Parts: sequence; C-alpha cells; structure tokens
Amino acid sequence: MRAIVVGAGIGGLTAALSLRRAGHDVTLVERARRLTEIGAGIQLAPNATRVLRRLHLLDAVARRSTRPTQVSFRTWSDGSEICRYVIGPEAEEEFGAPYLQVHRADLQQALVAALPPGTLRLATAVVGVDQDDKSARVTTADGEHLEADLVVAADGIRSAARQWLFGADEALFSHTAAYRALLPAAEVADLDLPEYAGWLGPGGHVVHYWLRRGELLNVVAVFGTHRAAEESWTAPAEPGEQLRTFAGWDPRLLTVLERAGQVFRYGIHTRAPLSRWSLGRVTLLGDSAHAMVPFQAQGAAQAVMDAAVLGDSLTGTAPDEVPDALDRYVRRRLPAATAVQTSSARAGHDYHLPDGPEADARNARLVALAAENRFGPHSAAWPVDVLAED
Ligand SMILES: Cc1cc2nc3c(=O)[nH]c(=O)nc-3n(C[C@H](O)[C@H](O)[C@H](O)COP(=O)(O)OP(=O)(O)OC[C@H]3O[C@@H](n4cnc5c(N)ncnc54)[C@H](O)[C@@H]3O)c2cc1C
Repeated sequence: MRAIVVGAGIGGLTAALSLRRAGHDVTLVERARRLTEIGAGIQLAPNATRVLRRLHLLDAVARRSTRPTQVSFRTWSDGSEICRYVIGPEAEEEFGAPYLQVHRADLQQALVAALPPGTLRLATAVVGVDQDDKSARVTTADGEHLEADLVVAADGIRSAARQWLFGADEALFSHTAAYRALLPAAEVADLDLPEYAGWLGPGGHVVHYWLRRGELLNVVAVFGTHRAAEESWTAPAEPGEQLRTFAGWDPRLLTVLERAGQVFRYGIHTRAPLSRWSLGRVTLLGDSAHAMVPFQAQGAAQAVMDAAVLGDSLTGTAPDEVPDALDRYVRRRLPAATAVQTSSARAGHDYHLPDGPEADARNARLVALAAENRFGPHSAAWPVDVLAED
C-alpha cells in the first residue's frame, strides 16, 4: 500500500519508519525547507524506548542520548531534596528499556537517517486533504496532488488536518509558559547541579538535565501566567525576564538562569481530547491528535507509541481494509493517550502549589511514593507495551 505522512516531526518520522516496516510505500512530506536544530531536550521514557527497540531504532537514538541514573525533586527556595527516584539501570531492568534524554534535533536526525532515500520530501506544505472510497489525497502549496491508500496527519499541535477532518478547534493556552535554555557544561561546572532535577515552587517548577552525554545543560523553567504567550520554539524572552519571574528561588537556579543569557519563551498549549482521530482513510497522530502539557515528559513518547501501533494495525492490510485498520489503531491508542493528557495536566497543578499545607501534603506524597515505588510518580505509564496489547 501507499501511505502519505504529513509532518517530519518525531511522530511523523516514527510513523513513516513503522509503516515501512509493515511493508508499505511511504512518502513523508514536511513543509520546512530544512530540518534545522530548533528546540532542545526531549525525554524518552521506557514506554517509548521499548518501541524504538522493536523498530530497530534504539541503538541509533541511544548513541546520541544521555542516560540519567536518578531524578531529584527539590524545594524551590533552598534546593533541599524532597525525594529522589531511580531511572537508571534498575529502571531499565524493571521496564525492559532505558530512560533517555536527547536533543530533539539529534533524535530527528537519527530517525531521518533510518529512512530509505527518497522517502522524505522537504519544502512540501500540505494545504488540503480529501478522500473517496478508494484513496486519499493531499494537495501541496505548489498545487501538486499526491494520492495514496492512506494519509497520516502528524502535523503537530497547530494541525490544519485536524480542522479539515473534524472542524475548527483551536490550540488551548494552558496558562503556563516556559523559559527554555541550553548552557554549555563549562558554564555551570561550579554549581554542583544534580544530574536531573525538578525544583517545585509556588506558581512554577524548573527542570534541568544533561544532553549530548553531559555537554549541554537543558533547562526548562515553567511558570503560571495569564499573559497569552506564543507557542513558539524560537520566540525570545525579554532580557532578564526569567530572573524577575523566578526572583527568590534558590541562588544556584538563578545563576543558571542568569548565565543562560538569552532564553526562549514558549507558551504551553494543548489540544482538547477528541472522541475520534480518523475519518475513512485519513488519521491524526502525535500532537495533532493529543497535544499535552509536558509535565510528565510524555509528549514525544506518546507520539512514538501512536506510530508503532499504527504500523502494527496496518500490517498485512489490503487497501480496502484501511478504514477498519485505522479504527483499530485509534481504539488502541486514543483512550491511553487521552489518559496521559489528563494526568499530565494534573501533575502541573501539583508542582506549582504555594508553600503551605497543600505543598507539605504533596511533598509527603512524593516521599511516601519513593518508599513504595522507587521509579517515581511518572512511571505509571512506563510498563505499557503498546505492541504487546490487544
Ligand atoms: C521545531 C520544533 C521544536 C520542538 N522542540 C521541542 C523541545 O525542545 N522539547 C520538547 O519536549 N518538544 C519539542 N517540540 C515538540 C515535540 O517535538 C512534540 O511535542 C512531540 O515530539 C510530538 O511530535 P509530533 O511529531 O506530533 O509534532 P511536531 O514535532 O510538532 O512535528 C510536526 C511537524 O509537522 C510539520 N507540519 C506542520 N504542518 C504541516 C503541513 N501543513 N505540511 C507539511 N508539514 C507540516 C511541522 O513543520 C513539523 O515538522 C518541538 C516541535 C517543533 C516543531
């Protein structure tokens, strides 16, 4: 069969590879002229890396990733540790796959390198999708019509395909935004930072971890705000804005935010859960289907899982069976991805509590959890083996 995948983000690339593995011809169209090094760190928990292994992609991705051994939750004001969870070799043994942290551009490159030549068409923006009983088509901005047995719209949080399929709905501002920065390791060497930490405080939380085997510190400082912020990976913050927003936080964090210099300001948006993702021969995948707040670090992981199940659901499928196969894919993925969307939103609320009884109770819960489950609060999603389900 022939498939067109729209969007060469993490979801679209993995979907293209997964559909190739299922034996189908794939054309992957991406509107960007080049895949440039935009963005920063992405986390891949064992639920995603297990899928990458099954797709024979894990080694290529792992070579470019950092493998943290533990994550430390800390108090915003003085850095005192609330609790820590293990995510290194013990987690790999427990969940059958490693926890990786990787620069999005490195992950994207590893996936692109695995595509057969000629699969990816850059500078090809899709401006319309239509279908009939026999096939589906996309129209490009150059007026070209490409036809296939199915179309997978992995066109991200601002998905136009979602609107064409299910009518207008907008990305929703989560009333949180994030300052993002990458710092060379040498610039923070004197600060004795934990390898991977989440600092929880009133109205915000700060996460940092290493990329490229410790060469770069990835910092994401999330804060609540009612000022609508652009959902952009390249919008600069005002000079020093991050220091004003996080005034009073632990001096080490402020030093990191100061040394970061120019940081990016990213308005965190989501999409409302849908009751269906596919219509006939066209389906959504990844952020176009279920963009979520990043507070469980599951956005890319869920897109990878969609891609794996899509390929699995379309294995051995004949062209006239495509709508049924896409329904199977959606049945296997929609409830699970929607649940992660919901629990991620809840985690954000919990991380931003002001000092006081509610924050104390949260800290007590985190400590109790460390005794019960040494892998931490987000590990609930990790045992899921999407390819073993059904
Ligand atoms: C430039 C960029 C940088 C990012 N950086 C980070 C980061 O640092 N950390 C993080 O956690 N997440 C980042 N993300 C988001 C993260 O990649 C996603 O949340 C997650 O991986 C799910 O990916 P996705 O494939 O569904 O969507 P995305 O990764 O958003 O990919 C969608 C792709 O579709 C393409 N596209 C959109 N519309 C069309 C069209 N009409 N025709 C053709 N192509 C189209 C886009 O150009 C894009 O390449 C970034 C996303 C982008 C686009």
